[in-house]
Amino acid sequence: MREVKKTLAFMLRVAWREKPALFVSYLILFAGDTVAAMKNVLIPKLLLDELLLVTEGAPLSEHLRLIVLYAVLHVAIDALVRAANSVAERAKGEISQWFQEYCDMMIGEHAMKMDYEHTENPDALDQLNKAREGMSWYSGGVVGVLDCAYRIVLNVAVLSGVTTLIFTRCPLLLPIQAAALVVISWLTARCNEIETRSFIGLSKRNRIFDYIFFQLASFQYGKDIRLYDSSRMMGDMAKTQLDEMTDIWKGEANGQLRYRWGIDIANVVRDGVSYFYIGMLAVRRVISVGDFTMCVLSATQLYNSLQNIINSVMDMKKRCSYACQFVLFLEYPAAMRTGERSLADTGGGGHVITFRDVSFRYPRSEKYVLRHLNLTIRQGEHLSIVGLNGAGKTTFIKLLCRLYEVTEGEICIDGVNIMEYADEEYRKLFAVVFQDFRLFAFSLRENVAPGLEDVDEERLREVLTQTGLYEDAQKLPDGLDTVIYKSFEEKGVELSGGQQQKTAISRALYRDAPIVILDEPTAALDPVAEYEIYRQFHTLVGGKTAIYISHRLSSCRFCDHIAVFAEDTVKEYGTHDELVAHEGGIYAEMFRAQAQYYVD
Ligand code: ADP
Repeated sequence: MREVKKTLAFMLRVAWREKPALFVSYLILFAGDTVAAMKNVLIPKLLLDELLLVTEGAPLSEHLRLIVLYAVLHVAIDALVRAANSVAERAKGEISQWFQEYCDMMIGEHAMKMDYEHTENPDALDQLNKAREGMSWYSGGVVGVLDCAYRIVLNVAVLSGVTTLIFTRCPLLLPIQAAALVVISWLTARCNEIETRSFIGLSKRNRIFDYIFFQLASFQYGKDIRLYDSSRMMGDMAKTQLDEMTDIWKGEANGQLRYRWGIDIANVVRDGVSYFYIGMLAVRRVISVGDFTMCVLSATQLYNSLQNIINSVMDMKKRCSYACQFVLFLEYPAAMRTGERSLADTGGGGHVITFRDVSFRYPRSEKYVLRHLNLTIRQGEHLSIVGLNGAGKTTFIKLLCRLYEVTEGEICIDGVNIMEYADEEYRKLFAVVFQDFRLFAFSLRENVAPGLEDVDEERLREVLTQTGLYEDAQKLPDGLDTVIYKSFEEKGVELSGGQQQKTAISRALYRDAPIVILDEPTAALDPVAEYEIYRQFHTLVGGKTAIYISHRLSSCRFCDHIAVFAEDTVKEYGTHDELVAHEGGIYAEMFRAQAQYYVD
């Protein structure tokens, strides 16, 4: 019930905020549907009573006008209601479509803004999938849920009307219909339970299907799938999933069969008893023939309305349990605390960073990646971080960028714990090129200057020249406006690994952030190109704080300090010359091992 309340309140709020016209559609439908329902019960009675009077000898001339009036009313109301409903339904259909796109967009936006930690959290990822599925045809989205609420309101109104009519003519009909309804609803509820259970089983298989046919079919996997001839394996996997899905559907149909038979039998018994009762009243002349017709039609309408209410309530429960996943996803709790503090401008466009006794292990992991790490990075300092693979260098950067929260200790900027700063402002501090950076399937220009409407062409050109990408870009079919990848654009290009890295570096340089971080972004470049980039980068970064992670120690020479990560912490710290001079030191060893590749 909580799910229903929560989801319904959410849908009503969103609909009222975004598309109040939807409620006008519902009002038109409500007026039309109630008038049509009452007309179907009342006009046949009025018509029949008039006709019977004529057949029993009353003069036709006295009754003809009324007979014609009722007949015309019957047809006219029908035509009017149909016309109004079709207009309202069309408007509602368009709004429903709009809401589908809108909710997809809400999911996408929320997924992009969620705490980074959640992108690796299986629960959060599962919630994202459930939100997507829940808002599809399973619930029918915003309009699907509101349709249920509308059907309940409409049928309650019609039910009150026909109950009053029945009560005046054949009151015993009410308990007969109600008893049948209790039995039929119980049987229907069992059928729905079976269907919901199947949904849970199907949900996982749908996700696997989606992965095989949508994600793997994308160009990113194109090379691997072809070269490893994986398409047959994909086909086989899909077939296995399809077989399992068929089993689930079969199980659902078999499980529901006896309940469906029960529903048919209950219907037959109910109709038999009702007709017998009303028939007896008519035979004994307690009610007229017109009343008989009205009671029969009212009984059908009463039963239909009651069943519609119960079905709609159950349908609403079912739809809300799916759609609620969407609401829960939007409310997914933040993984990290953030504050409201603003970053005081320290003048030089840089800030003092301090790691105080920081220890960290990844969520859902027991193993500490960093322990008791202490390090200060002064404003404007250029720090190089080196260490073997898995030493925790990238983790150090992720902690600094506040993608994860430290397990123990604290990271401060200008003496204040970074968790106390407001999110948006904090993010502006950094321009980072991660090792596993991603480019977007947009133009080169949009990749380097993302989201910036007023592109500073001069600066863009300067940055691209510094990274050596400008010349390459000129050779592309549309220059800087050439789209990367072929996702949306036939003429899209695949940049080489080196060009992609240069693009990512250009993006970081273009963003005028006070702290610049390069996490081994030069792995796809040859040593000479890397040397060039670091040399130029050093000049370009100038007075800003810069942190470089590199395997190639030749690049470290440019830096003020070098931190050597080993044994889960900063094992050595100093200038290049100091560390090289440190006999038996890790850095000195690494440098000597690599130096042979760079002699001449
Ligand atoms: P480096 O950058 O020095 O190569 P990382 O910081 O990437 O090292 O990784 C340090 C350790 O943390 C490794 O043992 C790695 O397996 C582990 N690790 C990295 N990312 C995650 C993650 N998201 N979840 C759990 N463990 C991780």
